[in-house]
Amino acid sequence: MKTVLITGGAGFIGSHLCDFLLDRGYRVICVDNLITGSEDNMVHMRQEKNFTFIKHDVTNYIDIEGRLDYILHFASPASPIDYLELPIQTLKVGSLGTHNALGLAKEKKATFLLASTSEIYGDPLVNPQPETYWGNVNPIGPRGVYDEAKRFAESMTMAYQRFHKVETRIVRIFNTYGPRMRIHDGRAVPAFINQALRDKALTVFGKGTQTRSFCYISDLAEGIYRLLLSGVNTPVNIGNPAEMTILDFAKQVIQITESKSKIIFKPLPVDDPRVRRPDISKAKKELNWESVVDIQQGIRSTVEFFRNKA
Ligand code: NAD
Ligand code: UDP
Repeated sequence: MKTVLITGGAGFIGSHLCDFLLDRGYRVICVDNLITGSEDNMVHMRQEKNFTFIKHDVTNYIDIEGRLDYILHFASPASPIDYLELPIQTLKVGSLGTHNALGLAKEKKATFLLASTSEIYGDPLVNPQPETYWGNVNPIGPRGVYDEAKRFAESMTMAYQRFHKVETRIVRIFNTYGPRMRIHDGRAVPAFINQALRDKALTVFGKGTQTRSFCYISDLAEGIYRLLLSGVNTPVNIGNPAEMTILDFAKQVIQITESKSKIIFKPLPVDDPRVRRPDISKAKKELNWESVVDIQQGIRSTVEFFRNKA
C-alpha cells in the first residue's frame, strides 16, 4: 500500500484528493492548520483506517515517521479574499511551506507534486495560456502575494528536481469549483450560487467582460492523478478550456437555479486578470486527459451541495 501526504488536505481541492486516493487504495495523511480549511470536509474520512489527520502549519518543519511515497503540496489560501486577508501567511506557505514539503520529499525519496495556479500567468497577454508563456504579473499589487509565492514555489520545485534529483510534478490549476467550496470564500462560483439561491442580486465585478474557464473538481482530481503517475516533470495546465465572460456565467447561474435574482455591478478588483483560458494541449498529449464535465452539469451538482447546506 502506497502512502500519500497531502498538505492542505482539509481544504476544498485537498479533501477531494483525499477521497480520490482513499478510494483507490492509498493510505492518506492530511496535514493542515485549518486556516481556510475545515474539519467538516473530513468528517466522512475520520473513521477510515487508512486516513490520518495531523493539525500542523507547514511553514514550520514537518516531522513525519515512516515511509512516504508521494507528497502533494496543496496548502495555501486560494481565494482572492483569503489571500488578501492573509498576505504574509500566503507568502510564507508558498515559500517556507514549499521548502519544508520539498525537504520532506527529499528525505523520504517521495515524488512531490506542487499545486500551482493559472495566477502565475498574471493578467495574461496571450490567450489561451500555454505552459511556455512566462506571464504578466504585478509583483507589488495586492494579488502579488499569491502569484509570486506560487512562482517562487515553482522555482523551488525545479531547483529540488535539478539539484537534489527529487522526482517532481507541477500542476497549474485553472479556476476549479464544486461541492465543499465555502459559501463566503468570495470566489465567483460560490458567491453567485449563494446569491441566486436566495434571490439576491448577483455581484458582477467591473463590466463582467473579463473571462474565466471553470473546471469541475472531479475532472481536476483525475488530471492531477494522471500527472502524479506520469513521468512529466515540467508544469502542466489542468483546466476546462470553455471560456466565458463573468457576466455570461452569472446569467447561466440564474438560469440553472431558476432564480429571480438580478445582476448588479461592483468595482473591479485591482489587477483582476482580463482573460483566462488554459491551453490543455500538453495535458491531452502527455496525460491523455481533458475535462469531461460541462458547466451546466458541474453547476447543477454544486447547486445541490449549497442547497443542502442552506
Ligand atoms: P482551500 O482554502 O479550500 O484549501 C487550502 C488548504 O490549505 C486549507 O485547508 C488551509 O487550511 C490549508 N493551509 C493553508 N495554509 C496552511 C499552512 N501554512 N499549513 C497547513 N495548511 C495550510 O483552497 P483550494 O481551492 O482547495 O486550493 C488548494 C490549492 O490549490 C492551493 O494551493 C491553491 O493555490 C491551489 N489552486 C486552487 C485553485 C482553485 O480554483 N480552487 C486554482 C489554482 C490553484
Ligand atoms: N467576480 C465577480 N463577482 C464576485 C466574485 C468574483 O464578478 O462576487 C469575478 C472576479 O472579479 C473575477 C472572476 O469573477 O473576474 C473570478 O473570480 P474568482 O474570485 O472566482 O477567481 P479568480 O479567477 O479571480 O482567482
